[in-house]
This record gives sequence, structure tokens and C-alpha cells, in this order.
Amino acid sequence: MARKIGSRYTAHQILGRGSAGTVWLGEGPEGPVAIKLLREDLASDQELVGRFVQERTALLGLEHPNVVSVRDLVVDGNDLALVMDLVRGTDLRTRLDRERRLAPEAAVAIVADVADGLAAAHAAGVVHRDVKPENVLLDMQGPLGPGRSHPALLTDFGIAKLIDSPKRTRATKIIGTPDYLAPEIVEGLPPRAAVDIYALATVLYELLAGFTPFGGGHPGAVLRRHVTERVAPLPGIPDELWQLIVQCLAKGPASRLRASELGSRLRELLPLLAGMPPLDVDEPDAEPDEETPDEPSARPAAPAGEQVRRRGAVPLVPGARPADSNRDTHTSMRVPGPDELAGGARGTARVPRTAGAPRPGSARHRATTRRRRVVLGTAAAVLLAAAGIGTWAATSGDDAGASPKDSKNSAPASP
Ligand code: ADP
Repeated sequence: MARKIGSRYTAHQILGRGSAGTVWLGEGPEGPVAIKLLREDLASDQELVGRFVQERTALLGLEHPNVVSVRDLVVDGNDLALVMDLVRGTDLRTRLDRERRLAPEAAVAIVADVADGLAAAHAAGVVHRDVKPENVLLDMQGPLGPGRSHPALLTDFGIAKLIDSPKRTRATKIIGTPDYLAPEIVEGLPPRAAVDIYALATVLYELLAGFTPFGGGHPGAVLRRHVTERVAPLPGIPDELWQLIVQCLAKGPASRLRASELGSRLRELLPLLAGMPPLDVDEPDAEPDEETPDEPSARPAAPAGEQVRRRGAVPLVPGARPADSNRDTHTSMRVPGPDELAGGARGTARVPRTAGAPRPGSARHRATTRRRRVVLGTAAAVLLAAAGIGTWAATSGDDAGASPKDSKNSAPASP
């Protein structure tokens, strides 16, 4: 059933549904396009429509082989639509769901593509703010690269920022997907380019491991882990690759690599990874408070002596003994300040061992992961109340009425 979008485009059939709206296969004066029709509640928001028009130049200006270009913005009656390049293929989440884990060479090739796309965006002053597998499209018509991977393109540029408004985020004061949120966002600092690097390193970890480094259990716990925990190692990958991941998951944004450097360092590693099979790793155990009542433990406690992978906790008070890192209650939590975040993570405290976390790839794990993605709002509210983290605002103060000039200013040259 065809549908007219403005005077120049026709939407023919639905390609997919996302959080912000529905994506249609469409036709424009220059041939086939993808048309993202924003949700009705977004399209009827006058403030958002104004921002949409304001951001036009920044959104339309991004041209890179690893970025899904926005060709046009249409405001037509009740319709608010982004007209994009059509990518014939699938998104990375679909591929990951299908394969569970990717071979390191393929994972690194895909992430290097995305890093190149981010480098172009950051150079143009645009921060993506919602890098995740759902927003990476694989162009099946493009040439096969290392690890038999098709070119990867990052999509949804600027959407997070457009949708973000004080009115819309008042309840949560935070936007994004919990598993991929950089610690400084949880802390309420303005999202700079380095938040995209953190999210992309999270994606790389997830492609290799089959689960995200700080995901699992209640979304509030996920947000807390971004600030307080160290990433659990991935056995079996070359140390050079592991060091890149660790550096880009640094708590302090200044310690992370820039996108262009990440892209080139990853490509340098490709020959080393050629032919490596997907990793075989277990998800680290979650805490007992993360076991939801409707999800009784699906597996018994690990027998004594069994190796259980655990994440380390970053002591909240520098120099504190591990026991001071209390994971059962948040009331005594002191989150690192901006200067500490800028200085990177310290400490090696260990978390108590428990059983009950869903195995990666299991139906329960997938269900938990999906629910996590959906209930970020609850998470933020809970964490605000319980952790006393205070005023988180994923949005910088100038985001509300951002002009194209402001948006450039919000993305610093340094990561
Ligand atoms: P989300 O809002 O969850 O990030 P999107 O709304 O961007 O998801 O996309 C929903 C689905 O539409 C994607 O999973 C993908 O299959 C499809 N899609 C999005 N953009 C394009 C595009 N430019 N070309 C082809 N398909 C697309």
C-alpha cells in the first residue's frame, strides 16, 4: 500500500520498525530510498519539529561510505520523515542474534568500518549518542571484506539528539540504551565524542563475547556497573586487541582513543585475526539482586573449584579496600567525580560470586537483554532514587534549544 510522503517521496513497504518510528522502502526523484517516518507523538511535538528543521544542515551534511546518509527531511502535515540512503541488507543485531558470536576478524572489520564513519561524524561536530548493533547496517550488496564481512554503515545519526528534549527526558534525564552508555553520561556530564567510542568498544566486546561487558540483570545495575566495574577479560583474543578494547572502555573519556585512530589500529590487527574461530566464553556471573523474581535461576551454582569469570569493581573511594565496595546497597556509594572520570579507572576489587545469571545465547538471556533495552526509564528513576547519583542529564544544558552551531560546539575535537 503506497503512501505519499511530502511531494517528492512515496513509501511502498515497511522495512522495519524501530524505537523512533517505522522505516519504509520508498521511492524518490533519484531512485529507491529508505524513509523513516517518526512516531506520531514525536511528529506532533512542535518543539521537536523546530529542532528537526534547525538540525537540517548538520544532518544532511554527513557523507561517508560508512554512514547512512540522510538525503532529506520532510515535514508534511502530521508526517515527520527522514529520507535516507537505502541499505540492502540487515542490521548487526539481526546478524548477532543469528550467529551469537562473530569470528574476531569479522567483528573487528565491522567495528573498524563503524569507527571510520564515526571519525567523519566527529570531525563534522556530530556525536551519534546511540551506537549499538541495531544502528549498524550491513550492506549485503557491497563487496566482501576481511572475515567475509560486508561493509558496515552507521545509521540514525542525530536522531538521539533530536528526540532528546527536557520535556521528553524529564522523568529519566537520560537517553540511550543502558548497555552502551558511557560512565560520564550516567554521571550527568555532557555527551562528547568519546561516548561513541565507549559504545563502539561495547559493541566490539559484544560481537566477540555474545554479551555486553556491563549488561545483565536490572537496568539500574547496568548503569551502575558502567561507573563502578572493570570489564571482565575475554580469554583467547590477542593482547593487542584486548588492550584496544580496555582503552576504549576506560571510565575516563580522555583516556579513550579517537575514532580515526581506533579504526586504523583495528585494521592493523586484521591479519593477526585471520581464520580465528568465534570465542567460546562464559558470561560473568551477575549479582543476586539482579535475579528477578519471575526468573528463577536456570542453572545450579558452580561447583567448588570451577572457574567463574567475574568483573572487577572500581573502588568508589580511591584507595579503598575491596570490602568497601559494597554491591548490595547503593546508599554509601560515592561515584567518581568528573576529574576522576577524566583520569581513568583504578583499583582491582573483586565482586562476590553468585550463580543464576542467564547463559549467553539462551532464551532467558535474550529475553533479559530485550527487557533491559525496553525499561531504561525505570532504571534511571531507580538509580536516581537509590544511588543518589543526583542530577544525571545525558543532555548538555545547551541541547534543549540547540542550533546547528551549538551542536558543533557540543562535540569537542578531543575524544
Ligand atoms: P532503531 O530506531 O531501533 O534504531 P531503525 O528505526 O533505525 O531502528 O530501523 C529499524 C529497521 O529498519 C532496521 O532494523 C533496519 O532493518 C531497517 N532500516 C533502517 N534504516 C534503513 C536503511 N537506511 N536502509 C534499509 N533498511 C533500514
